[in-house]
Parts: sequence; structure tokens; C-alpha cells
Amino acid sequence: MRIGQGFDVHKFGGEGPVMLAGVPVDCDQGLLAHSDGDVVLHAICDALLGAIGQGDIGVWFPDTDAEFAGADSAKLLAKVWQAVKSAGYQLGNLDITIICQKPKINPHREAMRARVADILGVQQTSINIKATTTEGLGFTGRSEGIASMAAVLLVPINETNTK
Ligand SMILES: [Zn+2]
Repeated sequence: MRIGQGFDVHKFGGEGPVMLAGVPVDCDQGLLAHSDGDVVLHAICDALLGAIGQGDIGVWFPDTDAEFAGADSAKLLAKVWQAVKSAGYQLGNLDITIICQKPKINPHREAMRARVADILGVQQTSINIKATTTEGLGFTGRSEGIASMAAVLLVPINETNTK
């Protein structure tokens, strides 16, 4: 088995909506980024790359590369997921935390879970989305940006197929 963790932050700026876990969520501000700024999918990419020992999202998709300007992060995640499968692993489970004061995550939680499951081609029960505020403290508490963390467990493809 392999374990990985990922963390990402993007800063508020411009107009909403914000893309979170591949779902557009209404917000009075957008997120500034070279890509679509999806902190959740970026944290998942980093967790997966960490688990298979293949660097990080900045190495795979440099923000100096015009090809990734405004990129759909679902496509970036799909590419990383392909590398995970090529390395001989499949998902055990994926646990995500979104840290922000706004927007409210709860109404979108199931849609986000379904979207991530769809991108990875896995059961929704393998994926969990949690959200927390920081009680007004720090940069997320001041609504300067959104942070996300992801933890992933990968299992060899053969082992789970025999269960
Ligand atoms: Zn990012």
C-alpha cells in the first residue's frame, strides 16, 4: 500500500464562481491561478503523486507553461490518475478537507464527491469531503483565499481485485 498527502492554496481575486472539486460554486469572488484554481483537485493531484513517488503538480504542470493557462484541473487530475494506474495502483480511499470561510461547502459536498468519483472512475464511497472554517483566524479566516488538504491510500491493483 502507498500513502500520500497533498496541500494547496489559492488566493481570492476577480469574479466568482470558484471551481472546487470540479464543481463551480457561486461565490462573490473567484480564485487567482494559472489554471482554473481548483484547490481541491490540486491537493488530490499532489497526494496521488506523493503516493507513487512522482514529485508534485508543479513539476508535472509548470505554471510557466502556456499550455496550462486556464487549464481544466479535472484534465490534470485525469492525467495524474493515469500515472497512478500505470504504476499498478488503484484507490483505497481519498479523504479531503476544504478550509475556507466562504463559500459554504456543505450544500455542494455530494456533488463534489460525485464529480471526483467520476473523474477517477471509482465508487463515491471511497471518497470523503470535509469542510472547516478557521473560526475567522488566519488567511482563510480573513477570506483571503481557500486551502485544501487531501490524504490518499493506494492499493495494488491485483490485491483488491481478488477480494
Ligand atoms: Zn493549485
